[in-house]
Amino acid sequence: MEAWIIWGIVGIIALVILIPYFLQFRKRQQEAIAKKREADALGITRPRAQFPFINQSLCIGCGSCVLACPENVLDVVWGKAAVVNGVRCVGHGHCEKICPVGAIEVGLGDIKQRDDIPVLDENYQTTVPGIYIVGELSGLALIKNAIQQGRKAMEHIADQIKQHPTPENILDALIVGAGPAGTSAALVATQNNLNYLIIDAQDLGGTILQYPRRKLVMTEPVDIPLYGKLNRHEIEKEELLEIWQSIYRDFHLRLHRQERVVDVQKVGNWFTVKTTAKEYLTRFVVLAMGRRGNPRKLGVPGEQQAKVMYQLIDAQSYTHSNILVVGGGDSAVEAAIGLARQKGNRVTISYRKPQFFRIKQKNQERIGKLIQKGRITARFNSHVREIKAKSVVLEQDGKRIEIDNDYVFIFIGGEPPFGFLRKIGVKFGTDMVTVPSTANVQNPIPR
Ligand SMILES: Cc1cc2nc3c(=O)[nH]c(=O)nc-3n(C[C@H](O)[C@H](O)[C@H](O)COP(=O)(O)OP(=O)(O)OC[C@H]3O[C@@H](n4cnc5c(N)ncnc54)[C@H](O)[C@@H]3O)c2cc1C
Repeated sequence: MEAWIIWGIVGIIALVILIPYFLQFRKRQQEAIAKKREADALGITRPRAQFPFINQSLCIGCGSCVLACPENVLDVVWGKAAVVNGVRCVGHGHCEKICPVGAIEVGLGDIKQRDDIPVLDENYQTTVPGIYIVGELSGLALIKNAIQQGRKAMEHIADQIKQHPTPENILDALIVGAGPAGTSAALVATQNNLNYLIIDAQDLGGTILQYPRRKLVMTEPVDIPLYGKLNRHEIEKEELLEIWQSIYRDFHLRLHRQERVVDVQKVGNWFTVKTTAKEYLTRFVVLAMGRRGNPRKLGVPGEQQAKVMYQLIDAQSYTHSNILVVGGGDSAVEAAIGLARQKGNRVTISYRKPQFFRIKQKNQERIGKLIQKGRITARFNSHVREIKAKSVVLEQDGKRIEIDNDYVFIFIGGEPPFGFLRKIGVKFGTDMVTVPSTANVQNPIPR
């Protein structure tokens, strides 16, 4: 009898603990399944640029990857990790590092389907021997990745130069682009006493120069060649640019500013690189040109007006104005947030999709709060039809809306320099059938 009572008490205690746990688990599962279904419907569980590839047979569903991902890309669905928002993946790679069974690999995957990813080997060399592609142009975003790729490519170049030195009148390497990738490559070239030159159509800093004033740059500790560890998780744009400028000053990096590279041709053993200023002869070419290219346009009437802009450097210059921001990525959202925080602005963001789903978690939270407070009006499923002098015409869910307007900021991406790359002979994933078998289909990811 006593034994029954004890078992009864144990049973009740177990139920008191287990039932809430089970209900909680069921609720989590239902939420995760709903998230996955919505993501499938939006087509955001498929690879685009970097992506977490999960080996379902290895995954033990421990959920450590879900907790590790700062962008909420993953969840656990029916006991296995699943991608619930692939376009948010920016390649931090925390999930891959933390997975106890090695079931996740963050990368570009099988690029044979991709006409936006150049084919590179493990040293970032393209299918044209001697031409390297590093940084965001390779398909991977983030400053940390750009620095690591620039380093690796130039180390490979330095090794070859050590074995067979380049004649004196020819550059060892010409680096196109003075962003994080090109700068890192130049630092390794300096470290190895190479005869190199960086050429940038604008100025040192690359895309960082285009960030809004005082933008908080999220980064991870990374080793910058010669400089040492940049041990910060968040740093303001201006402070980061100061570090970049001090690097150029202290290590005497050789940069030609305001000079655009327009062509690269192989002539015998060397490359001739033609710019808007002159022609250079070099043994290796490192393309660190980023992906921004020229800003993409809407192609609507009125877009040529001076009040229409494609970048926002200083939000503080705009106050007491009616402002339309067009786009749904991080650039658009960060611009809308910056403008909404200025005195007297009425900010509308127009996005063609039903919700933001490819932006950083922090941006999602910040814009969510401003929308809730009424400081930003979000018009989803909307398209700009016309830009007039004092208003803009939008179409939303089939209805025409005209709103007062003083400025329009358009952030719908850039035209990446793929045409230029194809012209100089670089092959992309979809060209793989014609690419020599030595080329690497799985583009490398630095770790
Ligand atoms: C709004 C925004 C916010 C971001 N926030 C973050 C963040 O918080 N954390 C993070 O890690 N990353 C962030 N990124 C991404 C990061 O800025 C990029 O991944 C990184 O700058 C890529 O470096 P890169 O050297 O490959 O190219 P870029 O920085 O894009 O530099 C390319 C350089 O090449 C030059 N160039 C291009 N074509 C030519 C040519 N034909 N001739 C000569 N020069 C040329 C350009 O002028 C430019 O200076 C953000 C990006 C944007 C747009």
